[in-house]
Amino acid sequence: MSGMIFADSLSRLGTESAFVVLARAQALAQQGKDIINLGIGQPDFKTPEHISEAAIKAIRDGHHGYTPANGLPVLREAVAADLNRRHGVEVNPDNVVVVPGGKPTMFFAVMMFGQPGAEIMYPNPGFPIYESVIKYSGATPVPIALEEKNGFAFSAEQVLSQITERTRLIIINSPANPTGGVTPKEEIDKLVAGLMDHPHVALMSDEIYSNMLYGGREHVSLLQYPEIRDRLIMLDGWSKTYAMTGWRLGYAVWPDAAVDHVTRLCINDHSCVNAPTQFAGLAALAGPQDCVTAMVAQFDARRQVIVDALNDLPGVRCADAAGAFYAFPNIEGTGLTSKQAQDKFLDEAGVATVAGTSFGAWGEGYLRFSYANSTENILEAISRIRKLL
Ligand code: PLP
Repeated sequence: MSGMIFADSLSRLGTESAFVVLARAQALAQQGKDIINLGIGQPDFKTPEHISEAAIKAIRDGHHGYTPANGLPVLREAVAADLNRRHGVEVNPDNVVVVPGGKPTMFFAVMMFGQPGAEIMYPNPGFPIYESVIKYSGATPVPIALEEKNGFAFSAEQVLSQITERTRLIIINSPANPTGGVTPKEEIDKLVAGLMDHPHVALMSDEIYSNMLYGGREHVSLLQYPEIRDRLIMLDGWSKTYAMTGWRLGYAVWPDAAVDHVTRLCINDHSCVNAPTQFAGLAALAGPQDCVTAMVAQFDARRQVIVDALNDLPGVRCADAAGAFYAFPNIEGTGLTSKQAQDKFLDEAGVATVAGTSFGAWGEGYLRFSYANSTENILEAISRIRKLL
């Protein structure tokens, strides 16, 4: 036994169970089991060739040194141009901070506002890192309950009614992980209008799935509301849109008053994102976007397949998945808890999914299926589950 004495705060740090499921699924596959992985949330496509080539060229051209901590100026300009193209907004490249993935922005934002006595609101079920990091910071996590009957959209009224003088930050996420829910514009309008009465509250809008909406829906970016730009952190990145999860590249648009703080956090934490990856990110934004359109069309086709197939299972009911690449069916009718279903489907059917409770207490009774997998595998997975049920 080691005599080391760790900091108490470590006991409050959670994890992302999708990685635990991934490790178990890989271990079972190594034992020769035939596993279909609908657990992990990453595109099953290859990073488009022209993006990878840009990184290789950057290495050959000698881009191997440090870059500015907030990212290469040319990349931050490309981010601003992309946000103008997609959302019709003006963004000053000086407000863009490039970081290694989507996660560092949420970690830094929560660390910037979280401390004992502070309250931070977050979606539940939601991306598990929000609650984990809020607890780690010492702040009190205040859940925003997301319900199936509202298409897993947040209710502005509920969010606003939970604000106190201790509220420091509200986290929202649309399109959402794990539910695929998309919050309609009217709710976002209401939230922004209500926030005018609470100038002390900052907002972090996680828009990492902003390119993945289906059924004619259009993304509403919080950047489109000038009245909250002075306290908005808008998170987005390359991981999902360009199939670049392993490259570790993301960014956020920060309000003027927070840019220096987050830049110092970057300098203390990672200095800068590795240079060739930033050149890959530049090629992604400045190059042709048909790779994105093609990938999203594939996700849309699979989404329709998986939602129909899930609704056909006994005891299972699946809401229309409006965005991202997740279906979040209600499985209460099977008589299994979320965790029991996750374990049973993996052990007995070789299908990896993630229990709804991995995304917070409000996820009980649900299971997350990622449809970032081939239609053939999706249908085979559902057919195996059908036999089991
Ligand atoms: N935000 C949400 C809602 C996500 O689902 C994810 C990844 O699954 C991230 C952020 C993190 O993205 P990254 O892998 O770029 O850190």
